[in-house]
Amino acid sequence: MRIARFSIDGNVAFGAVEDGPDGLVLDIIKGIPYADFELSGTKVPLSKVRLLPPVLPNKVVAIGRNYAEHAAELGNEVPDVPVAFFKPTTSVIGHGDAIEYPPFSNELHHEAELAVVIGRMCREVPRERVKDVILGYTCANDVTARDAQKREKQWARAKGFDTSCPLGPWVETDLDPADVTIQCTVNGEQRQLGRTSEMVRSVEDLIVHITEAMTLLPGDVVLTGTPAGVGPLNVGDEVAVTIEGIGTLTNKVIKRG
Ligand code: MG
Repeated sequence: MRIARFSIDGNVAFGAVEDGPDGLVLDIIKGIPYADFELSGTKVPLSKVRLLPPVLPNKVVAIGRNYAEHAAELGNEVPDVPVAFFKPTTSVIGHGDAIEYPPFSNELHHEAELAVVIGRMCREVPRERVKDVILGYTCANDVTARDAQKREKQWARAKGFDTSCPLGPWVETDLDPADVTIQCTVNGEQRQLGRTSEMVRSVEDLIVHITEAMTLLPGDVVLTGTPAGVGPLNVGDEVAVTIEGIGTLTNKVIKRG
């Protein structure tokens, strides 16, 4: 099932994305998708609503250098222990929202990533239970101020500025994430193309590693790293992240007003 979060007539709702006679429709969900829920049968055309970030995470935990080719392109080794960092909740935007070019950077980069959405509170998750704590998957862009990342020891500003975490367009609950294509285009031109099977550490490895340290809550998001091909974003660019079996997350880059 594809679960979208959207606003309609000033209200926020979740809906299951389905094919309708004239395009995609949303079957409005009764309740929230982290517990047992029912579909209401009330359907609205997707074109009539504004999609919101598919989740409002309590935290976004991101993993760096999880594709060997990408680590190499920036002159880095794959680390012995996964590099983990946070992106704040204020960095999260949805499909169609604008990425605001931050004033302290002259080198903004796209990073297409598979995002894991957590479905239940968990800590110290054993490998064989990882699938039980995952609600589904969505597309992410770990937008990075690369110059600030090189300049500053911690990446809080470089990867945590407002609008640096586009997520969407919806959560796919039935995906097997082991080997799907992940692609990034800028203005329609392909920049990144990889497969999740190239990840150094799998989704299971990453959830075990993170929950060894901290509790993950329903709606929390784990970013799993980006394949090779990262590169610049400029004001006016349209960047799209497409993951096989999920869909496409599109955002435009604007100057911060
Ligand atoms: Mg990244």
